[in-house]
Amino acid sequence: LEKKISVPLKQRVRVVVRVRPQLETEDQVWVHVADKKTLHTLNHRNTKETLQYEFEDVYDPDTSQATVYNECVQPLLVKALNGQNASVFAYGPTGAGKTHTILGTAQDPGVIPRCVRGLFSAIEEETCKSDAADWKFKVSFSYLEIYQEKVYDLLKPGCTVLPIREDKHHQIFVTGLAEQSISDIKEFTKYFAPASKNRTTAATKLNERSSRSHSILLLKVIRTQNVSPFKTLSGKLYIIDLAGSEDNRRTGNQGIRLKESGCINSSLLALGQVVDALNKGHACIPYRSSKLTRLLQDSLGGSAHTCMIVNLAPEERHYFDTYTTLHFARKTK
Ligand code: ADP
Ligand code: MG
Repeated sequence: LEKKISVPLKQRVRVVVRVRPQLETEDQVWVHVADKKTLHTLNHRNTKETLQYEFEDVYDPDTSQATVYNECVQPLLVKALNGQNASVFAYGPTGAGKTHTILGTAQDPGVIPRCVRGLFSAIEEETCKSDAADWKFKVSFSYLEIYQEKVYDLLKPGCTVLPIREDKHHQIFVTGLAEQSISDIKEFTKYFAPASKNRTTAATKLNERSSRSHSILLLKVIRTQNVSPFKTLSGKLYIIDLAGSEDNRRTGNQGIRLKESGCINSSLLALGQVVDALNKGHACIPYRSSKLTRLLQDSLGGSAHTCMIVNLAPEERHYFDTYTTLHFARKTK
């Protein structure tokens, strides 16, 4: 029997939608943002249906990277700075703007560079306060990938599969995962840029592995008081570029591809079930049903803070993936 409790609004997983600008101009736009909370699909030439969806926030194609960061991620960063756990996901089909949202470009940086910058400026602010309780901060990051239900280190690329474990304080960790300490954005970029490049070049060689794997940045902040009572607070922020949510089985995949898609689907399915269970207040959350949800167990639900950014492509030719993605998102909100 499933027990239900009411979930306080602030503990729920926040689900927002971001529609990217139209890129394929030979096609027509199918997804229209009506207002800050409503989106509807236009009359489809085959289905002749229009559908309307409401979410906590709907970001139209003109929404800047800064707005997405400020409204969706900055509040989570504050939690991590204060010793809590948090996570942010980009969910959606390949080509819908997940990597643009999470990573962005040099000209138009996304969540990751903004977060690291924001983190160090918040730390500087805290340490400069006159009434500062003499906190010392230590920041580090890890960068990993889950591919076919296996965890790989992107900072130490190789083929070693890493196990996920839980310590006696119910904190989840990955055995053997590299953890790079950093003291400013420059240092972060020095270690992160080659690692993320590794991932993109591997992508073209390995059947677009990047669209079939979850890439996960973990920012860890530990703050310690220099004076009595020498308190220590430890917070984590996960920033996740999920595998494409498209259903690859439809495209006639064979062999390895089919296995890959199967894994991606089960992992995303597990994520959907966890978010759904959390938002419905179920007592039993199925974290153990995939590597992704197991890894995130201490940073998704409970006292953790989570935002899921659902990315959509507006063109009509993507309507099937858009529809299934919206269906997923609506279920989880
Ligand atoms: P995904 O990671 O979901 O596969 P990408 O982030 O690679 O998708 O986006 C697909 C294409 O759309 C890229 O060329 C990207 O630069 C562009 N794009 C995505 N979102 C935006 C946006 N908000 N503004 C401008 N271009 C975008
Ligand atoms: Mg991508």
